[in-house]
Amino acid sequence: MNQTLLEQYVEVMSTNLLYQRNQDHWEYLLNSYMGGVEYQRGQYLTRYVNESESEYNARIAATHLENHCKSVISTYVSFLFRESPKRDFDNNTESFQLEMFLRDADMDGRSFDAFMKEVSVWASVFGHCWVLVVKPSVGAVTRSDESLLNVRPYVNLVTPLTVTDWNWNRKLNGEFELTYFKYIEESNDTFATVREWTKDTIKTFIVNNRSRAVVEETVEPNGLGKIPAVLAYNHRSPVRGIGVSDISDIAHAQQSIYNLTSEVEQSVRVNGHPALVKTVGTEASAGAGAIITMEDNLDAGLKPYVLAVSTDISSIFTAINHATEAIDKMANTGSIRSTETRRMSGVAQEQEFQLLNAKLSEKADNLELTEEMIWQYWFEYQGEQWMGEIDYPGSFSIRDTQADVEKLNKVKSAATDPVLLRIIDEQLVELLGEEHTRLPFIDPNPQTGRTYEDGEEINSNLPAAYQPAANAEVPEGQNCGNCEYYKPGELYCTKFDAPVRAVYWCAKWEPVEEDAYN
Ligand code: SF4
Repeated sequence: MNQTLLEQYVEVMSTNLLYQRNQDHWEYLLNSYMGGVEYQRGQYLTRYVNESESEYNARIAATHLENHCKSVISTYVSFLFRESPKRDFDNNTESFQLEMFLRDADMDGRSFDAFMKEVSVWASVFGHCWVLVVKPSVGAVTRSDESLLNVRPYVNLVTPLTVTDWNWNRKLNGEFELTYFKYIEESNDTFATVREWTKDTIKTFIVNNRSRAVVEETVEPNGLGKIPAVLAYNHRSPVRGIGVSDISDIAHAQQSIYNLTSEVEQSVRVNGHPALVKTVGTEASAGAGAIITMEDNLDAGLKPYVLAVSTDISSIFTAINHATEAIDKMANTGSIRSTETRRMSGVAQEQEFQLLNAKLSEKADNLELTEEMIWQYWFEYQGEQWMGEIDYPGSFSIRDTQADVEKLNKVKSAATDPVLLRIIDEQLVELLGEEHTRLPFIDPNPQTGRTYEDGEEINSNLPAAYQPAANAEVPEGQNCGNCEYYKPGELYCTKFDAPVRAVYWCAKWEPVEEDAYN
């Protein structure tokens, strides 16, 4: 074979050291997230001593995978995108092309929201992923020419497994600039398309993997003068260009559960179908009522016998439950995922929600940054400067609504104070998804038939202890007029939803808080 062609092929298909160091790990993370056939192909069951290839393959086929990696990432993404991110394009032109981009961001029918969801998923899986903002160069002169040809910037999601080489340089002002970016755009058994970006050119190579040769090479100028690749981090690591995956440790716990599941299947088989020990010459078939034919001259001591090995399957299930709990602790999803059966104490649950909220907030910040950079390149292609703002939710309301409702109902059944009952009812209404509403005060024991000295009726909402502030049992200096719940302009008590007089008092009196006047 032509040495130069081979050298060119090797050069195009070469990868950098960071890629080589992480490739196996990324493949493991990908298979752990994908599950199914990919996971089976990875052969993550531990082989038994002397286990044949066909026995091992049969064991793989009989073992199902509990895919915790996918479940954890789906939980995160569902919280992150429960509310759509807010996009303010400020002074940027909101054109037809922009509208088209928001509807079909990757020229493959996915909306920009759906695309960003995908970015979040793959960044979670690998620790980071890349988004390439591309605009085809078709020689159109004006924006309307481009509109007619449906030419506009679009985005490409590239996973770390296909980005084989990259390089950053530090500029004089300290900013890092991507100066080289190579990725495999498409690949099948025979051909692969490799694209190589520099600040000046975009080279495309089509290589034949069987003949190990570059069969086509095209070069086009990079009109942008920079590489429009955005690095979307999940969590940053100390190494530039490498993120921290959400499932690094979870994937190992998942593999351990996978192996234990195989042990359960094997144990059930051994318990139900014990091994038969016989001499070579003895003919025996399996199944109920099977006939065993022994040689005539067989020594009486060598009679075939059943080797009963009993395995305690419950201890394997205990180990599986322990591994599942460990996954929930690592992911902070113990009280959210349906796999969780134990009940956590209120304090532990609150702490877990806070940790999960912090994790989600960091992920949302990283997505916000990624999107800002995507828009910068998008508008630069359109000859504009990005002026807008992107806002992802910064806090996520995570709570166990059912447990909260149960708790409130328990307190409500024991409470007698109508004020407390109203507060509980207001919270229950909120938990049912309604806006916070101030409910009317309902006194279960209305105090009727009372009047002031001048004959005016005292509102029945007011408690039995409502009386003139001048009475001897009323603490010195306390009256409705200086109570926290008194609305001076309206002569009204907000605690009992009733008109009151400033010179009266009740046992619920509270001093006015300082900032109430501010
Ligand atoms: S003392 Fe306060 S709580 Fe009691 S009736 Fe007067 S304003 Fe209402």
